[in-house]
Amino acid sequence: MNFERIKRVKSSKAFTVPDAIVSVIMVIAVIACALFVYRLPSADVIISVRGEKDIRLSLDSETDIELKHLTVHIHGGQVWVTDADCADKTCENIGKISGTWQRIVCLPNGVVISVTGDDDSLQWEIGR
Ligand SMILES: [Zn+2]
Repeated sequence: MNFERIKRVKSSKAFTVPDAIVSVIMVIAVIACALFVYRLPSADVIISVRGEKDIRLSLDSETDIELKHLTVHIHGGQVWVTDADCADKTCENIGKISGTWQRIVCLPNGVVISVTGDDDSLQWEIGR
């Protein structure tokens, strides 16, 4: 009988109620950490043109921004540049970025594209 088995397991005290609570808390903590690390909530894309014009958009927005010298694409949580008229095309060659530690820079056109979020202070601490 299943009942007997449960009783036996319970009386053995190998796995008590406090153990179960601790296990559940640990599982929740691991999931919370994973979400915090991998999801990066409310990240924004900041496009700075010659340090004067700042365009701020959500990384979740699905849009293309046509600037004077290049086109910025924001799709699927990634940002990248196409149609740049600069000579070196470094900004295009950087490819797609999605994390706060990455940025796209087009020196000839003075365009800096970075990804930022609520975890700015954390990134700052790690970056020091
Ligand atoms: Zn460029």
